Amino acid sequence: MKLISIIVPCYNEEEALPLYYEAMLPVLEQLKDMGADTQFVFVDDGSKDGTLKTMRALAARDPRCRYLSFSRNFGKEAAMFAGLQHAKGDYVAVMDADLQDPPDMLPTMLRIIEDPASEGLPADEPIDCVGTRRTTREGEPPIRSFFARCFYKLINKISRTEIVDGARDFRLMTRRMVDAILSMSEYNRFSKGIFSWVGFRTHWLEYVNRERVAGQTKWSFHKLFLYSIDGITAFSTAPLAVASYTGLGICAVSFIGLLFVFIRALVHGDPVAGWPSLVCIILFLGGIQLLCIGVLGQYLAKTYLEVKGRPQYILQEDSTGDSSCCAEGKRN
Ligand code: UDP
Ligand code: MG
Repeated sequence: MKLISIIVPCYNEEEALPLYYEAMLPVLEQLKDMGADTQFVFVDDGSKDGTLKTMRALAARDPRCRYLSFSRNFGKEAAMFAGLQHAKGDYVAVMDADLQDPPDMLPTMLRIIEDPASEGLPADEPIDCVGTRRTTREGEPPIRSFFARCFYKLINKISRTEIVDGARDFRLMTRRMVDAILSMSEYNRFSKGIFSWVGFRTHWLEYVNRERVAGQTKWSFHKLFLYSIDGITAFSTAPLAVASYTGLGICAVSFIGLLFVFIRALVHGDPVAGWPSLVCIILFLGGIQLLCIGVLGQYLAKTYLEVKGRPQYILQEDSTGDSSCCAEGKRN
């Protein structure tokens, strides 16, 4: 039998997790009929509610449930990374705990990876990943959707790695794709970019957005904004180039201005005027300089964190019984 590991990052999901588990049970049966065993890797990302207790209870009841628990909240990216490191399956899925990722899509995903021809896809082109996309952003605040769209447009213009708009982290991958992802040990992880950067053929399934079953979203607008900056700095150096080009452009314009002032002074003498324009120029240039230094700072900060080589996460509890590899998310 092959094994599917299902990674479920959880942060304060005590209400949603039991519902998720119940909803998954019939799907596990379906997968079993297709010849696949399943294993859950729940990752408690430093939850402050009873999430860890729920995980312990599930693990005691069902040997397919395993869990990792972080010493504090390290973020969903770290939780997914830990899950991938500890997943043993031939196939690995990543799912949210709030049932926004429809469980009944899993059997279809497995079928597509195992036998693309059964879904009308070319049989000689192996598929290593079946990803999911939301077709609508219904139920999301309009301002957030607007900025999300702008972000995807921008990042796809300035990065060579394609980042699909509406793509969810919910996906099923083969072992070789997971190993490729694990070989990317960067500290500033932006999974949407990493999944795409490693390549392999991805087939996209679409579905209509769903509301979470219980609990609250963990992403505030501010958190999403910071995450989008992470995405841009991790997968594009275009802002650095923009800073240099802006500097170059301003130099050219100032040179022309300088010629103009110089010739005018020669022809008309030196009328002592122009204080307002001078102030405007100084403020404008000062602003541009600060902006460019800020851009540099963003990259420097990321480099700084990267160079320090800190672990991605610290475990405080591990039911997977696998302390050999990467107990602390240390990079190789
Ligand atoms: N999550 C996490 N750590 C965090 C934030 C979120 O592990 O710091 C998990 C969360 O428990 C959920 C998934 O990531 O299973 C997606 O989070 P959420 O549903 O809040 O995001 P949304 O669906 O609103 O984008
Ligand atoms: Mg959600």
